[in-house]
Amino acid sequence: MPYDPVRPLRGQKALVTGGSSGIGEGIARAFAAAGAAVGVNYHSHPEAAERIVTEIRSSGGEALALKADVANEVEVQAMFAVLLETFGRIDILIANSGIQKDASFPEMSQDQWRRVLDVNLTGQFLCAREAVRRFLTQGIDPSVSRAAGKIICMSSVHEVIPWAGHVNYAASKGGVMMMMKSLAQETAEHGIRVNGIAPGAIRTPINQEAWEMPEAERRLLELIPYGRGGEPEDVANAAVWLASDNADYVVGTTLFIDGGMTLYPGFRDNG
Ligand code: NAD
Repeated sequence: MPYDPVRPLRGQKALVTGGSSGIGEGIARAFAAAGAAVGVNYHSHPEAAERIVTEIRSSGGEALALKADVANEVEVQAMFAVLLETFGRIDILIANSGIQKDASFPEMSQDQWRRVLDVNLTGQFLCAREAVRRFLTQGIDPSVSRAAGKIICMSSVHEVIPWAGHVNYAASKGGVMMMMKSLAQETAEHGIRVNGIAPGAIRTPINQEAWEMPEAERRLLELIPYGRGGEPEDVANAAVWLASDNADYVVGTTLFIDGGMTLYPGFRDNG
């Protein structure tokens, strides 16, 4: 299909995990506007997912709310079955669901460690595995895309920036980075493109406190050379491009969307 600059994902079927809020919601809306049919996965807020689906449909798009705990193999497989039954195929997976359960290291419980790893890393593994299985069966259909399928793993600047008090979260995102790269290396020969997105500080429910308290916001902005917090649209716009055929030669890389947060801003004044 020739590249369509207005609707670059026209005719493609996508699944966005954690699509009922924050970055996932932004991506679901942007993908629908770009012409994709979108499965909006949610864990515990059906009303939020249904509202997004209704709004997408009322603007002429195609969308479907899908409940699943991404850390649960059976639920993930059931979600893929419903999506495939409804849409007939899948072309793009945005493995976006993620949580934080913060604690100082001596205080961190095994449950806090395990749940963050389960959702942030195992959840991406389970969803990516289902997507890859389907991409391999489908193969490349040039009328849809140059690739057999695309996966975007939602990482974080904390795949490279250590984060005291959030050791479970940083470990999960470091794991996401190496899972993404190893999977990209393994599947590229089948026409599958796997990449990551590493957002900096984006205003969403996950970090509401950091933006709501003026002192916390001031300290956070000191870490962002570009001088503003990110919005879900900043990530969503990049995700549309990364999933589209305009990024067809982009394989196994992390796209940082962070206003320069990974540029060691502490060295701005000569260190
Ligand atoms: P968010 O809390 O709005 O989104 C997280 C989503 O994951 C929610 O929709 C939630 O329902 C879903 N989720 C949680 N547990 C789940 C489960 N077990 N199964 C299915 N879905 C589940 O916050 P967000 O900022 O939009 O986060 C989205 C992703 O972006 C996360 O992976 C997060 O780590 C990453 N990220 C966010 C920021 C930021 O500054 N907001 C920065 C870097 C990375």
